[in-house]
Amino acid sequence: MSALLLAAAAGATFIGVSARWNWWRRIRHDGLRTLMYHKIGTPPRGSRLKNLWVCTREFRWQMEYLLRYGYTPLLFSELRDVQAGRRRLPEKPVLVTFDDGYANNYEAVFPILKELGVKANIFLVYECMERHNEWHDPATEPWMRMLTWAQVLDMQNSGWVEFGSHTMKHRNLTALSQQEVRWEVSESKKRIEEKLGRPAIAFAYPYGAGAYASAVRAAAREAGYAFDFGIRQGISPWPWTAEAGPLKRMFIRGDDNRFDFHLQMTRGKSRF
Ligand SMILES: [Zn+2]
Repeated sequence: MSALLLAAAAGATFIGVSARWNWWRRIRHDGLRTLMYHKIGTPPRGSRLKNLWVCTREFRWQMEYLLRYGYTPLLFSELRDVQAGRRRLPEKPVLVTFDDGYANNYEAVFPILKELGVKANIFLVYECMERHNEWHDPATEPWMRMLTWAQVLDMQNSGWVEFGSHTMKHRNLTALSQQEVRWEVSESKKRIEEKLGRPAIAFAYPYGAGAYASAVRAAAREAGYAFDFGIRQGISPWPWTAEAGPLKRMFIRGDDNRFDFHLQMTRGKSRF
């Protein structure tokens, strides 16, 4: 009887663990992996969005993982060159992306990128630059400093980082009129290009909202971005065309462990 109970407990544990860690998913060798980060460092007191924070030590380990397993981190412009047939896609391409443009991307991330030789891309919220994350309710996520244009130019000039648009104000695009949506996606592109002196090639939908809403996505495509990114989990098909839908990403959570990261890289997903 106790042997039976033990077997049942073992079975339940196995099922539980296999639901949490999807080791049984098919290993993928194809496609484009895009990692999605937000903030690197220690969450401030009062943060209720702790999973959007990845600690600096784990971030460094994750970048070392990419290099150890032969991944080639790309810039948006390099991916565009691949799409245009001007550059060959490396064997294991990956995009490292950051949403929102926090100052900690310069202070905590940039030194690691330079030291290890990893390229990354940051989506900026134009009107929050040099200010704070004003779209957050401070009761949920304390306000913190965003990047300055001087920091952005320093990163751009280094050759390790490129920038895309994450709209003007980080509003939910599905809650706006079509005219406002067009302003959010087109005006931010134009203004970022004026500041940086080069094309803004990629766009990320705030909250992922509107990525699959036809009118919103049409506005993003018409603005002239080569790539648009949602927050749907997974590995994107490559070659990719806009008809395939927005590029997927892999959300790297603050409470992911190293096995989660490995599962994300090999399977595109680590949990349900
Ligand atoms: Zn965002």
